[in-house]
Amino acid sequence: MFKAFLVKYGEIGLKGKNRGSFENTLCDQIRKRLAKLGSYEVIREQGRIFISCPEGYDYDDTVAELQKVFGLTAIMPVIVVEGTKWEDITAAAIDYVKAQYGGKKLTFKVEAKRSDKNYPIESPDMCRLMGEELLKAIPELSVDVHDPQIRVWVEVRKNSYIYSHIIKGQGGMPLGTGGKAMLLLSGGIDSPVAGYMVSKRGVVLEATYFHAPPYTSELAKKKVVDLARLVSEYTGPIKLNIVNFTDIQMYIYEACPHEQLTIIMRRYMMRIAETLAKKGDCIGLVTGESIGQVASQTMDSLLVTNSVCSLPVYRPLIAFDKQDIVDVAEKINTYETSILPYEDCCTIFVAKHPVTHPVLSLIEESEKLLSGKIDALVKTALDTVEVINVK
Ligand code: ATP
Ligand code: MG
Repeated sequence: MFKAFLVKYGEIGLKGKNRGSFENTLCDQIRKRLAKLGSYEVIREQGRIFISCPEGYDYDDTVAELQKVFGLTAIMPVIVVEGTKWEDITAAAIDYVKAQYGGKKLTFKVEAKRSDKNYPIESPDMCRLMGEELLKAIPELSVDVHDPQIRVWVEVRKNSYIYSHIIKGQGGMPLGTGGKAMLLLSGGIDSPVAGYMVSKRGVVLEATYFHAPPYTSELAKKKVVDLARLVSEYTGPIKLNIVNFTDIQMYIYEACPHEQLTIIMRRYMMRIAETLAKKGDCIGLVTGESIGQVASQTMDSLLVTNSVCSLPVYRPLIAFDKQDIVDVAEKINTYETSILPYEDCCTIFVAKHPVTHPVLSLIEESEKLLSGKIDALVKTALDTVEVINVK
């Protein structure tokens, strides 16, 4: 019954002079998403975006796509009335309410507004008049202005729109309005969620995964590719860099005190990720770290890991409890994949008693033990990166 959608956006309405370009970016994102479903028309209209659907389009698929677009706060399937003639609007509203709610006994309220202050009927009068017409035409209805079972919205603009369903959107900022960041993506629960959250603020993602064959299997790698694909449902295509980390890990294992292994390893991950980030024009790194979750994520450990980076490191989960992270993972459909039981390159070489309060100067001392070969190993790792473009 609906041939069109109106969508609302939140914060981008506040961006002053940038507003136009934000709205255009949002329209482009909507167009890109819907293009795979058919030829939809997407136009900006006075603080709203209007989407007109092709003949025979699939309602559920369209809503599902729109619900993944960052920047949309609400999606309303609408009845469109050409022009602004009050009689036409009233007739369409009666037809619509009849068709949607049949002869059900329901309480309702009309919420009407006009974008043109010269329109002959003022908003409160529109509400009242429309309410009266609906009551006359559909005797099963009764008015409840405080807690109605249904609300009928009427927006009079260049054309007029009638709707009674508001579907919640993702919120956030339109993709592409926030720069580009490098996500350190492992096969765990946290990093896909971290990537999704940063991207929701309009940031385009590239990703890096540290693979340690034969200690980590092809299945572990496939799991990371699958996770990248699930995240890309929201974030758009992701260039995934797969770094062979085995020789670096082995070398640290041979040369350094075992209780410092994880921290030193993590410092090398950050260094390599930052090099790839700069190469890919990323202006930040993203990890799934959360204070105190494991030994390498105490504030002391984060301080020591962080000190090798010159780019800012964004850690959107820093104050999240695990269950809160799991809730987001379930919402974005990465959880089931994340809990598949494949080994992680960090866990294989974990010491029994890793340091929880590493001291930077001591870690730097230990890293001197690597001076013989580490630069060459890092160079080889960077030279042999495998790239998978995930979409
Ligand atoms: P996750 O659930 O994201 O794997 P985690 O709880 O296992 O996190 P750690 O293993 O300490 O925590 O990793 C902390 C962060 O470091 C991860 O969220 C991720 O951003 C990054 N990271 C860890 N291992 C890898 C890896 N093999 N490749 C890329 N990034 C990694
Ligand atoms: Mg992990």
